[in-house]
Amino acid sequence: MLVTLNDVLPKARDGHYAVGLFNTTDTDMLQAVIEAAEETRSPVIIGTAEVLLPYGELQLIAPAILARAKAASVPVVMHYDHGLTFDRCIEALKLGFSSIMFDGSIHEYSENIAQTREIVKIAHSFGASVEGEIGHVGNADSDDGDDSALYTTPKQALDYIADTGVDALAIAIGTAHGAYKKKPKLDFVRLQEIRQATETPLVLHGGSGLTDLDFKTAIKDGIAKMNIFTDLCLAGERAMKKCSEEGIGYLAARNCKVEEIKKEVIKKMTLFGSVGKA
Ligand SMILES: [Zn+2]
Repeated sequence: MLVTLNDVLPKARDGHYAVGLFNTTDTDMLQAVIEAAEETRSPVIIGTAEVLLPYGELQLIAPAILARAKAASVPVVMHYDHGLTFDRCIEALKLGFSSIMFDGSIHEYSENIAQTREIVKIAHSFGASVEGEIGHVGNADSDDGDDSALYTTPKQALDYIADTGVDALAIAIGTAHGAYKKKPKLDFVRLQEIRQATETPLVLHGGSGLTDLDFKTAIKDGIAKMNIFTDLCLAGERAMKKCSEEGIGYLAARNCKVEEIKKEVIKKMTLFGSVGKA
């Protein structure tokens, strides 16, 4: 069934587990994620991100996600990740997304607040939920060095939530998007402080490449939504490489890829503790 973040995240926060957002660019990844959720009775968040649209057109992938989310036997949030522009967010809502992440981090704080507040108003009128971000989660391949100045503070989190009315908040505590070059070090003390300051469900981006212990500690300390994409690509790549080496044809290789991605999703759901929570 199609639901919003508000149907799954407060339960996860209170139950000390996290619901995974697994981004998808095609129906192969979509099938892998939905089957993983149904087989493990796990709530799930599935979507695509604005930066992924060159790899999977929104008008093609959205109706497929929507149909599969509605037909699913477990709660499925259809989430538009890192919406960068107002128009694209509205387009996603019209296509049936039940949740939007608005990323106004390139704007000055006041402009970010003004735009996010407007998106919240519109998304809520569609019955959809909104995730915002304060502090900045960078890219794993940047060589900027120490970016702890961009980490979220408890005061920023509180002000941002009050100013925008978001339903969930992505925070920066040391993760980054993409594949890590060096081992990330997460600021769990900061996470605990933010958790104590607000009841709003907290989100961690850049989950691919963290250790099992990082995931478990982050969830224990208050993360209710975990974003995963790169690890699904790596699983698919492993399958395709193996099939190519073994001379396996296109159709069988495609199924093998779906199975490998599904295994990775189940591994993450087990780690996040969402198995059996649907
Ligand atoms: Zn992100």
